[in-house]
Amino acid sequence: MRVPLIAGNWKMNKTENEAIALVRVLMQRLGPENDVEVLICPPFTSLSQLHKLLVSSSLLLGAQNISEKTSGAFTGEISGKMAAEFCTHVILGHSERRAYYGEMDQLINQKVKAAQDAGLIPILCIGETLEEKDSGLATSVLTSQLKTGLKEIFCDDPSRLIIAYEPVWAIGTGRTAAAAEISDLIARVIRPVLGGLWGEKAANQIRILYGGSVKPANAGSFFNQLEIDGALVGGASLFAEDFLGIIEKAS
Ligand code: PEP
Repeated sequence: MRVPLIAGNWKMNKTENEAIALVRVLMQRLGPENDVEVLICPPFTSLSQLHKLLVSSSLLLGAQNISEKTSGAFTGEISGKMAAEFCTHVILGHSERRAYYGEMDQLINQKVKAAQDAGLIPILCIGETLEEKDSGLATSVLTSQLKTGLKEIFCDDPSRLIIAYEPVWAIGTGRTAAAAEISDLIARVIRPVLGGLWGEKAANQIRILYGGSVKPANAGSFFNQLEIDGALVGGASLFAEDFLGIIEKAS
């Protein structure tokens, strides 16, 4: 059984006070026990305070990025060990990191290794651009992102590695991929690549999330698909009602 995960990527939004206010609402409404895992990934600046606030809560905390380095003269960077003081998870290879900060699969692979070394659960984001999709390249792009991003990565515990399939053309655009098509792509491409790396049994235990303009109104259609194990939510995770509405659909 793969436990569904709903993860909120807040990106560069919310001051510490705003973050605390949103988390207080989520805590009140979610209760201590949930049948889905709920993760929020705020900016680094709020992690310490939110970690204190969430000490006896089921709500999980994640980072949005880490350095591939462990320590040293790398101005502006945050190591996996630093993030792991507050977080259980880290988003890696998000399409915004790839597009705006030039992160390539080889670097993302080093970050996945750094995350595992620090005891963090990596959420590896993969996805094709609209151009790649229209040129019939989605399968080869996803395969290569997975094979390079996960090169020489161990998967002793499949519950500690998560893949987020986020077609770039669906992120923040209001456009979503059809749920059945995503499920088909996961079954046809993503799980078989994972199976090639670690065997079918492990591949069937790894959670694969969908991300791209998920809202309460469309969330149910994704979660009805057997292959989709939850969502990575951007814009809608910034509003308590929207995020809670999505969690409810996954419950
Ligand atoms: C994301 O940034 O990972 C994302 C899926 O954003 P949105 O939900 O806003 O499309």
